[in-house]
Amino acid sequence: MKDLKNKTAIVTGGSKGIGKGIVEKLAESGCDVAFTYLSSEESAKEIEKLSDKYNVKIKKYQSDASDFDQSSKLIENILDDFDSYDILINNAGITKDNLLLRMDEDSWKKVIDINLNSCFNLTKCAIREFMKKKEGVIINISSIVGVKGNAGQSNYSASKAGINGFTKSVALELGSRNIRCNAIAPGFIETDMTNKGDGKLLESWIESIPLKRAGHVEDIANLCVYLASEKGSYITGQIIKVDGGLVT
Ligand code: NAP
Repeated sequence: MKDLKNKTAIVTGGSKGIGKGIVEKLAESGCDVAFTYLSSEESAKEIEKLSDKYNVKIKKYQSDASDFDQSSKLIENILDDFDSYDILINNAGITKDNLLLRMDEDSWKKVIDINLNSCFNLTKCAIREFMKKKEGVIINISSIVGVKGNAGQSNYSASKAGINGFTKSVALELGSRNIRCNAIAPGFIETDMTNKGDGKLLESWIESIPLKRAGHVEDIANLCVYLASEKGSYITGQIIKVDGGLVT
């Protein structure tokens, strides 16, 4: 179903994993997409080629979401290329896991910069257009560890808990302008980010999930389409877990 026909979305970190899945699902729903990446140039080029398959415009932009000036320039460039946009999905993120005892300051700052400060950068720069149009949808990709914490991920869980607070505040500030803001908190989704650990650890993770499987990128992408469409028009300020029942 083309629930997002004549809409345009911005997706950060669209070159791989969940972001790539979101770009494809949006395109399948009839949405034009501007997506960013940092280093995965080849993969980004391949994703641009999906334009023909879905008969929508898809364009890649190399832009560091943790850098405010680059984010501001990015929004200018997207406005030049697409005229306007309706949806912002803050997805770019990294992990630099370690126990707090061993975590260095750089690992703390990088994760906060890329995961949390990026949401401020992009949202701050993007909302001017939403206010002008008197409508807009913001979706932040958080994590269940932002709700429950996780040993070895104090930096990552702090960044995601920050996103949750940011999401609720933006929803309260901008609801009266018809701008909705929600966060999706994925559980364990199979991507490059989660393929780093050893097999045994991953198996024990999956065993602890009530639905007994890892999530797929489509599980997250489908909810993005729902929230961005008219079907999600009364939902704002929510942190929605998509985790196979891991955190109830
Ligand atoms: P991934 O496969 O490692 O992909 C990360 C994406 O973010 C890539 O496209 C990467 O681009 C981009 N990126 C990284 N740093 C960036 C920066 N500074 N500026 C712009 N883009 C940047 O990770 P993923 O698993 O898809 O994760 C996507 C989001 O979901 C993250 O926010 C993550 O925290 C969240 N999440 C994932 C899981 C999971 O189980 N996978 C669970 C909960 C939450 P390049 O490759 O071009 O550098």
